[in-house]
Amino acid sequence: MSVAAWPGTIQDPELRRLRALYKLLVSLSTAHALQDVYNAAISSLIDATSADRASILIFDDNGVMQFQAAQGLSLQYQAATTGHSPWSRGERDARPLAVPDATREPSLAVYRELFASEAIRALAFIPLALEAGVFGKLVLYYAEPHEFHGDELDIAQAIANHVSLATARQQAELERVRTSQRLQAILDNSPAVIFLKDGAGRYQFVNRKHAELFGPREEVLGHSDRDVFPPDFAERFRDNDRAVIEARGPLSFEETAPHPDGVHTYVSIKFPVEEPDGTISGVCGIATDISERKRLEEQLLLLLEASGSLLATPDSAEVLNTIVRLAQRSIAADGYAVWQERREDGVWALAASAGLSEEFIQTASLSSPAPNLPAGPLMIPDVTVEPLLQRRQEALRREGVLSMLLVPLTIGGHAGGTVVFYSKTHRRFTESEVRLGATIGNLAASALATAELYDQQTKLRNEAEAAERRASFLARAGLELASSLDYQEMLARVARLAIPDFADWAAVDILDDSGALKCVAVAHSRPEKVAFATEFYRRYRLGQRGITSAALRTGRSIMGEVSDELIELRARDARSAADVRELGIRSYIIAPMLLGERGLGTVTFATAESGRVYGSADLKTAEELARRAAVAIDQARLHREVLQSEEWLSAMIDTTPDLVKVVGPDGTLLRLNPAGVSMLEAESAEQVIGANVYDVVAAEFRETYRSFNESICRGDHGSLEFDVITMKGRRRKVETHAAPMRRADGTIVHLAVTLDVTERKRVEDALRHANQDLEQFAFSASHDLQEPLRSIKIYSELLARRYGDKLEGPAVQYLEFLRTGATRMETLLGDLLKYTQATKFEAAEGTADAGEVLASTFADLAGTVEETGARITWGPLPRVAIPATLLAQVFQNLLSNALKYRRENVAPVVYVSAERGNGSWVFSVRDNGIGIEAEFREKIFGLFKRLHTSAEYSGTGLGLAICQRIVERYHGRIWVESEPALGSTFRFTLPA
Ligand code: ADP
Repeated sequence: MSVAAWPGTIQDPELRRLRALYKLLVSLSTAHALQDVYNAAISSLIDATSADRASILIFDDNGVMQFQAAQGLSLQYQAATTGHSPWSRGERDARPLAVPDATREPSLAVYRELFASEAIRALAFIPLALEAGVFGKLVLYYAEPHEFHGDELDIAQAIANHVSLATARQQAELERVRTSQRLQAILDNSPAVIFLKDGAGRYQFVNRKHAELFGPREEVLGHSDRDVFPPDFAERFRDNDRAVIEARGPLSFEETAPHPDGVHTYVSIKFPVEEPDGTISGVCGIATDISERKRLEEQLLLLLEASGSLLATPDSAEVLNTIVRLAQRSIAADGYAVWQERREDGVWALAASAGLSEEFIQTASLSSPAPNLPAGPLMIPDVTVEPLLQRRQEALRREGVLSMLLVPLTIGGHAGGTVVFYSKTHRRFTESEVRLGATIGNLAASALATAELYDQQTKLRNEAEAAERRASFLARAGLELASSLDYQEMLARVARLAIPDFADWAAVDILDDSGALKCVAVAHSRPEKVAFATEFYRRYRLGQRGITSAALRTGRSIMGEVSDELIELRARDARSAADVRELGIRSYIIAPMLLGERGLGTVTFATAESGRVYGSADLKTAEELARRAAVAIDQARLHREVLQSEEWLSAMIDTTPDLVKVVGPDGTLLRLNPAGVSMLEAESAEQVIGANVYDVVAAEFRETYRSFNESICRGDHGSLEFDVITMKGRRRKVETHAAPMRRADGTIVHLAVTLDVTERKRVEDALRHANQDLEQFAFSASHDLQEPLRSIKIYSELLARRYGDKLEGPAVQYLEFLRTGATRMETLLGDLLKYTQATKFEAAEGTADAGEVLASTFADLAGTVEETGARITWGPLPRVAIPATLLAQVFQNLLSNALKYRRENVAPVVYVSAERGNGSWVFSVRDNGIGIEAEFREKIFGLFKRLHTSAEYSGTGLGLAICQRIVERYHGRIWVESEPALGSTFRFTLPA
């Protein structure tokens, strides 16, 4: 329709107004933009009122009135009046304002000149208002003063109302479009996948994320899940959509969807799209990809779990394996390894690994860490150009490793190892992988440090416990060893004591009389095992060969471990290997029991079930035990021998004919043998044992005996003769030989063998008397016979001298016989006298210088010496406790014999010497004479004993007898050593 079609010019103001309104409505209904509305409103205003000009102003965002449309106004005017408003923005109940004559309106005084130049005399302001109050105004302009009628303002207000509504509508539309654009932008920029499906499940809307992931909009919109996703996924989506429709409210699901890099997980919020009439027209969904979050969550969980299990694992080997497992689970790679610096030698080696070849593992060892080991994780995209890996190039190449992630294990500021992820492709580990690697490294380092501490602590504790076990075993074994003298039983008990604290097996072997090792004890906690071991020992004759005997032979302990390989290597055949395995021995110690150099046997300890392995401290314990056992065995043996000899002694004491007694320090008779019982004429031992010995001793000997007993009980030895009075009152002479005897309690008692010497004493007395008589007789005889002999000598001399020449024939010879007989008789009597005198008196006291005595004797013999051409020499001679005259007699006799019994045509050579003997001097007189046959060497000391006739050698046969008597009187001894035909050496001793 065209406005121009309206016929002619309408003069009727009413009609004109209607027409203008109609025109406005038509314009408004076709208006696309607000400007169209404003332009239409301006022309309507001019048409419908008598104003010649009009304008529209709207508050802008800053609250300033701005011209939106104007007709007939200069730009200058518009600029000057912009911002003027009779109302403030949002003012309610604003009414039209008419200014019939602007020159008279004081509120507009400032614009007066402006109005004049623009030829404006009257104005009207019509508010544009909606619910929110005034938002703009319409202005009517008149060139002349103007009287306003109600109609004119009413129509202007009506036009204003239409403009307001149209503005509101236009603004609403603008707002709608803007909102939907914003919404689209929001949806498209959302990282979530957002979609809308209709009731049949066809996509009505998908946002950009959806399009990126699951296909362009044109391929998706109008299609259902079945067309977009694989059936499995599509079905699950459909099921969830249905659940939402059924629930008539939002539901949340965890859904998965296929992506190019694998299946992703989403959390989808789905809600039904409800129409105003309550029907449900579709399902809207917002799905958030939580794969990454889930992965992180899983990683976090993994790390949490790993840190828990790592820190709870006390064993470092287990920790290392856990680290490798953790590495495997957290970062995908082809190989994993934990390198660690070995504490003992500082060598870097693989402590645990996965996915690496045996060869790589075997050769993975470095004398020192790589120089400049980084402080944090190091990603190595190409191993061949990494200077850090120079030393490992060859191994990495062979293993096919191309890239790596290396994480240092820093413990206490010191890099003590690395966790390494090996890849056989050139890959770049992602930032999150590197971060994860670092976390694993930290976790591993602290777990290793903890485990190491724990290991150390455990080791220390184990050591302390083991030391305690060893000490307690030794202490208890020591008690056992001292407790019994039956050493086999004792050793068996010691062997049992070793179980289980020190050993699982214990055995003791003793060297028997035939020189073979005999097993005397085997101990194990289970009896059937003991039986088996005993049989094993017998079967393999371990007593004769094997390492036990080797240990004994060498006197050195042997310690070792038993492994399967060793068994295979050593076993003679399958059966013996099986037997050894049956014993289950893990490690062993064989310690020889040594007494000085002598081996008594061995103790063997072995571990089996406990799995322990012996160390040097255990060896020491075993050796100490073996040493103590050896001493104990020896003591036991000694004790047995003592017991045996005691038995033997008892038997001897009981059968000996002499009295044997034991007396206490107070004189109590503690023990008496049967001979003693009969000697004391007691009825039984009981009658006297316990009684006091002093009572039996004759009264006059009692005090002597008491002090004798006391001195013996103080430790002295001694002999005593005394009398006892028997139970029957008979006196007996006894001679007792006593020795102290220490008893087990440390006290000393008096042990004595007492002889009944009553009879001997009687005989001795008689003999002494007879001897005395005889000696007296001999003395008197030799003395008294000298007188008549002298007469015979003198008269036979006289006879020869005075009547010799008158005698003839046999008378001369008879006289000669008489004279030589008398001379010889004289010598004999002289010697006999000397002999009797030498023994007649008690030994006289005195000392003599042997050298001087010998010198004077030598002078006496000067004649003979000269005659025979003898040479007598002597060495240094001592002073001795004997009167000089007696020593002179001894020298005299020996020297004269030495000269006398010389060899024919051999000048005598005599040498006298003395040397210190045991508490005495031993004198020697050595000659080079005829010597003495062995059979006569004792005889020659007898009275009148001679080996030659007087014709051969003169002599009486008393010289040596005299020497013997003198020497023996001074507690010495005389004897001869001789080589017949070469010479003799007479020796005698004298107290020093
Ligand atoms: P006699 O007066 O015969 O020498 P003795 O008592 O002095 O008596 O010696 C006993 C015997 O011992 C001698 O007859 C002699 O046969 C032998 N006799 C003593 N001294 C020696 C000696 N130095 N060499 C060899 N025989 C000796």
